[in-house]
This record gives sequence, structure tokens and C-alpha cells, in this order.
Amino acid sequence: MENIEASNFIEQIVIDDLAAGKVTEIQTRFPPEPNGYLHIGHVKSMLVNFGTAKKFDGKCNLFFDDTNPSKEKTEFVDAIRKDISWMGFEWAKEVYASDFFPVIYEYAEKLILDGKAFVCDLSPEEISATRGTLKEGGKESPYRNRSVEENLTLFREMKAGKYPDGSKCLRAKIDMASPNMNMRDPVIYRILRSTHHRTGDTWCIYPMYDYAHPICDYLQGVTHSLCTLEFEDHRPLYDWVGINLGFAPKPRQIEFARLAITNTVMSKRYLKKLVEENHVHGWDDPRMPTVTGLRNRGVPPQALIDFCTKIGVVKANSECQLSYLEACIRDDLNANAERAMAVVEPLKVTITNYVGTEKLTTALHPLKPELGERELDFSGTVYIDKADFSLDPPPKYQRLKLGGYVRLKNAYIIRCDEVVRDEKGEVTELKCTYVPESRSSADTSGIKVKGTIQWVDAFTGVPAEIRKYAYLLKDAEYAGQDFGERMNLDSETIYHGYAEPYLAASEDESRFQLMRVGYYKKCVDEKGGLVLSEIVSLKDNFNK
Ligand code: ATP
Ligand code: MG
Repeated sequence: MENIEASNFIEQIVIDDLAAGKVTEIQTRFPPEPNGYLHIGHVKSMLVNFGTAKKFDGKCNLFFDDTNPSKEKTEFVDAIRKDISWMGFEWAKEVYASDFFPVIYEYAEKLILDGKAFVCDLSPEEISATRGTLKEGGKESPYRNRSVEENLTLFREMKAGKYPDGSKCLRAKIDMASPNMNMRDPVIYRILRSTHHRTGDTWCIYPMYDYAHPICDYLQGVTHSLCTLEFEDHRPLYDWVGINLGFAPKPRQIEFARLAITNTVMSKRYLKKLVEENHVHGWDDPRMPTVTGLRNRGVPPQALIDFCTKIGVVKANSECQLSYLEACIRDDLNANAERAMAVVEPLKVTITNYVGTEKLTTALHPLKPELGERELDFSGTVYIDKADFSLDPPPKYQRLKLGGYVRLKNAYIIRCDEVVRDEKGEVTELKCTYVPESRSSADTSGIKVKGTIQWVDAFTGVPAEIRKYAYLLKDAEYAGQDFGERMNLDSETIYHGYAEPYLAASEDESRFQLMRVGYYKKCVDEKGGLVLSEIVSLKDNFNK
């Protein structure tokens, strides 16, 4: 352990705590609330929690923070488990706040017995009205000085279901004059008749997060409770609970900055809106920043880990460019994805001087010869992308033009001799001739061409639905513009192109660099048709 170097301030605290003998083994927890799907922000939290534990040879639990029965569902529990496993993280134990409800209740009675908690009859509205402001202290509740016996009786009656929802609550007796609003006699138990996804109707009172969380941490043996910055103001209450319940050793809460990314919504509220209003196909839509969406998009989990590692763990909130995440995905795919060819908007090319068919070969990955080669059928009729031909080319145009030459990648140099048009004058076909001596890697033609374009053989090529994506969230026109106004309702475009048969035969979910097109995931639609779905563009076109 002596030789471990800290790569962020949290790890430094851990190193110091170990050196000072405050802890001997590190225990953390990743604490999702099962009220929705995990998103890329949670990936950062996973990396911090699982990563820190792993680095110091400790353990990290999966802790479901299920103290809010009305919003929580088993469906989310299952999805969260699946997402964490896909990311490659392993939890030591799976724990639920609800496992501890009986102990959390016992601790509340202890606070009452110690004169540190009281039953309050003020309504939630009255409580918030008497909480005071950041500048002014709050007003003490008229119920604050009830006797221990009365509090205990009332609290037990609350538990027994004697009072209606919201009519009473249990509050910690701390300090209504505290400059920290969270310390002004916070509510620690509320009455709520709501069926819990695990405990059913056993309970009609539920502990509040700020009170339950330190107890759950302690009961799990958590040494470092790592959370996001918005909990900094809650730390005094976290510590108050630990100190007043006599926790030893008391878990230590440390806050770090939330992940925020440009053009990306992470708030569950808006993600839900996108799904419910059918702006996307579901929680796993490839445009969604959810873990399930990223997985469905074809993003490799390692790229997400690289991204979160590179942006680091700091104490100040900031917004990261989405293009930076894309660069991490691209780096991973560039190194790992096989190459293949597809055309997005096909234009037929007939090579008039070519007779017969042949098989050409090319490397599956230019940097990984060990992956081997794939065969390309060549028959003299091919599709190229419409965008690679111009009738009215600008100066220095390097792709195909009438009378001009271009190389078909991994094949031959061709020259465009004639353009075929339909009644409307649209180009429907190009008649070309090829240079027989120009075959790639055996080129003796001496012709120098500047442009190389991808193509698909017309006889063996497979029709493919090609899906391209734009950002779901447009740039803000002014600071703080509402997400609702920034939604890009036209962020999916579907093309009907062609792909080489290798793509159709590849395993489902395989990732490819489609040459000159982008990084794509292969899948099949309900009818068994080939679908190529964009993972990330080839280059950063964000800043253009
Ligand atoms: P959201 O507001 O997006 O719904 P949340 O904080 O309510 O997120 P939880 O399920 O409570 O979601 O979060 C589990 C853990 O993930 C918490 O420790 C939380 O701080 C952390 N987390 C959530 N969002 C982010 C983020 N954007 N960056 C880093 N950590 C995050
Ligand atoms: Mg939360």
C-alpha cells in the first residue's frame, strides 16, 4: 500500500487515513436510488466508488438507496445491476436501505430517548415556512419541547398507523438558528402510505435520506462515503447523526464534482420527458446519455471509463465538452474496430471495360495484421456515395468528376466518362472505365490520383438501413436556457444504403469503422434486415 500514488484528492485522503491508522481496509458503496436508469454521470460515480475501493484493495457495495417508496421500482433495480455489470464493476455485497429499516427505526427511538428528536405536528408547509432563510434563522416548533415519553408514544403510534400521512413527523432537535438550513431541526421520519418495492406495506413511516444514509453507511462498514458536491451542505447533518448515535469508527463523507457535459441532459426529469413524449424510442435509445442508451449505441464501456478517468475527480463543478467524450470513444474504436465499407446514399457506377468478377483482399484493421483479411467481391458494377461525385466541382476537388480519376479503395483507379440522368435531370448512374494495372498494392499504372473513395459491389452488396444521429440537445442560446426549449426533435436521420456482405455476416452488435463514413454498430431489424447505427463520427465535426 505504501507505494500507491494518489491520482486525485479523494485518494490522497484515503492514503492519509490509512497512514494515520484511522482505517485499515477501505469500504465504499455506489448508492443509486432505484427510481430511474443510470446515466453517464453515474458512471463517474461508479468509477470513483468502485475504482477507489479497487485501488486500495478494498470493497465497494452496491447500495440501493430505496427510502422513497413512491418512485422506486424493481424494474430499475434490475436495470441498474445490469448496467453496472456491463461497465465491468463488481460489487462486494448488494445492500438495500430498506434492509435496515428496523435498525434505522431503533436508532430513531434512541435519539428520542436521548432528547435529540421530537414528534412535530406542523404540516410540511408549516415546517418549510418556519425554516427561515439563508440570512435569518428559523422558528422553533411549538412541539419541540415535548417530553421524551410523549415523543416515544407518538412515534410508536405513527409507526402503528394511527395518524394520516403528513400529519406528524419526527424531527432531529438540532438548532433552528444554525446558518446551515439542513441543521434546522430537519425532518428524519415522515408518515407515508405507499407500497414499497421490497417491504410492501410493512411500513407507513419512512426515514429521510439525510438521516438514513449515514446509518446505512455505518452498518455496511463504509469508511469513505463518496458523493457529489450538492451534499456538501448536508455533511454537518451526516456527521451529527454519526456522532449522536455513537458511530465508531464514523464513516467519512467526501464530496466531488458532478459530471456535466455540453449538449447532454442528465436530469432524470427531462430524460423521462423525452421518453414519455416519444422524442426518443425509449430509455435505451442510442441518443440517450443513459448507460443502456450508450450500450445500445455501441459505445465500448472502456471508452466511458477512459473518459471519466481523463476528466478526473475534482472538487469544483464544471461542464465538459461532448466532443471530448466522442474523442475518447473514437480513440477506443480506432484502435479496436474492424474496417469495412458502406455507402450511405448510393450512386451506381458501371465500369464499361471490366469483364468478369474477382475477389480482392484487404486487412481487417490496418494496425492489427493479426486480425487477418477480408475478401471484397469486385464485379465491375459498384455503388459509390452520391457525395463523392460532383457535376460542378469546386477547384481542387479530389473526388470523382466527369473526366476525372479517383481510386476505389482497395481496388482500382477509375475515370468517369459519362453521366446518365433521369427525366428530371438527376444523375442516376456513372459510366466509368478502370485502369487494369492500378489494382491496390499491385499498382504499376503510374497514375497519381488524389482521391480515394469507398464503394460497395452492386451484385453482392447488401441493402442496409443506415442511422445517423445528431445531438438531442441543441446549443443553449443563452445561459441557463431550459432544456425543454433546447431539444432537437430531428436528431435521427435514416438512409438506405449498401454495405459489403462482410458486414451482414458479422456478429450482431459488432463495431466497425465504416471507411470515410464513421464508427457504426451492426445490428438487424425485426425483419432481419441489416442496420448500421452510428456510434460516433470519424472526425470531430463539432467545432466546424
Ligand atoms: P439525477 O439527479 O440524475 O437523477 P441522482 O443523484 O438523483 O441523479 P442517484 O441514483 O441518487 O441519482 O445517484 C447515485 C449516485 O450517483 C449518487 O452518489 C450521486 O451523487 C451520483 N451521481 C448522480 N449524478 C451524477 C453526476 N452527474 N456526476 C457524478 N455523480 C453523479
Ligand atoms: Mg438522488
